[in-house]
Amino acid sequence: MEFLHDYSLAELKEKFSASGLPAFRAKQTYEWLTRYADFDEMSNLPAALRETLKNSFCARPLEIIKTLISRDGTRKYLYELADGNVIEGALMKQEYGNTVCVSTQVGCRMGCGFCASGIGGLVRNLTAGEILAQVLAVNKDLGGGADRKITNIVLMGSGEPLDNYDEVTKFLRLVSSPDGINISERNISLSTCGLVDKIYKFADEGFKANLSVSLHATTDEYRRTVMPIARKYSIAEIVKAVKYYFNKSGRRIIFEYTMLKDVNMSDDDCKRLRKLTAGYPSHVNLIMLNYVKEKDVKGCTVEEGEAFCKKLNEAGVSATIRKSKGADVGGACGQLRRKYAEGEL
Ligand code: SF4
Repeated sequence: MEFLHDYSLAELKEKFSASGLPAFRAKQTYEWLTRYADFDEMSNLPAALRETLKNSFCARPLEIIKTLISRDGTRKYLYELADGNVIEGALMKQEYGNTVCVSTQVGCRMGCGFCASGIGGLVRNLTAGEILAQVLAVNKDLGGGADRKITNIVLMGSGEPLDNYDEVTKFLRLVSSPDGINISERNISLSTCGLVDKIYKFADEGFKANLSVSLHATTDEYRRTVMPIARKYSIAEIVKAVKYYFNKSGRRIIFEYTMLKDVNMSDDDCKRLRKLTAGYPSHVNLIMLNYVKEKDVKGCTVEEGEAFCKKLNEAGVSATIRKSKGADVGGACGQLRRKYAEGEL
C-alpha cells in the first residue's frame, strides 16, 4: 500500500486530478496528513472519498508503540512501520526548541564500532514518507496539530542518511516545503559516516542542511579499525569533500568525535584535529561514549573529556562536549530497537 506522505502537494494534486478529483480536495487531504491524522479524522472530506483513499493508501506510515521519558526530558520513541519493522527516534528538549532525531533506514550496513544500529546489518531503506512521518508523529505527540512544535531535526537515528540518498533528499524537500510542516534546512542536520561521493552530490544539488561527519579518529589507520567506511575513503578525502560542501552551502561543518581513553585523545590527536579543521568554519562535537553492551570499547571520565576539550580549545580548535541526552533510556542510536527485539522492553 502506498504512503500518502511520500507525495508532495503538487504530486498529490496530480494523483487526485488523474482520478477526477478537484485540486482543493488534495490540499485538504495534505493538511490532514501534515497533522498526522488518520482518514477517520479528516472531517472535511466526504465519507466516500475517505473510503476510496483508505482502500488504496496509508495515511499513517508508522505508529508510536513505546515512549520512554528520560530524567532530562528526552523522549525516546519506538515506532512500528506498516510492514511490522520497528525503528526508533528521539525528541530532545533544548533551550532553543524541540529537536527530533529521525532514523533513515531500518538497521544500517555501515557497521561502525560502538554503534548498536549496525549490529544486525541493513534491513531496508525508509521511504521519504516514513522519515517525514517520524517528525509529524512526534509533533502530534507534543500536542501540535496545525501548529508546529518541532523546531529542529537531526538525521542521526538508525541508518546512514547518504546511503539512502534519494529518499532522504526527497524527505528534505518535503519537510522544508511551505505546503507542509515547513522546517527550514538551516534547522536540519544530516549526520554521515563520510560517504564522500554523496557529499559532493549533496553539495552540487544545492542542499543547505548542516552537515555533520562522524570522524572519531585522526588517523586512517585507527579509523579503519572502528569504521569500515574508512577502508574506502581517507580522512583527507573527507576533509576535501566537506570543504567543498562548505563552499557550496555556506554551512559550518560539524565533526562528531567520540572520546576513547588511550585511543584517540593524545597530544598528537589534538594536533591532527587542529590541522584537519583549520581554514574553514568547523566545530568538533566531543561525545562521551554511550554504553553499548554488545561493543567492547571504553570511554573516558568527565574530567578527562574536559581536559581534552580544553587542550583542543587552546590549540585553536572550536570544540565542545556534547551533552549526552537520554542516556538512562538508551540514548545511543539502535539500542532501543535491539532491546525491543530481545524482549527487554
Ligand atoms: S554510526 Fe550511523 S552509519 Fe555508523 S553504523 Fe551507526 S547508524 Fe550506521
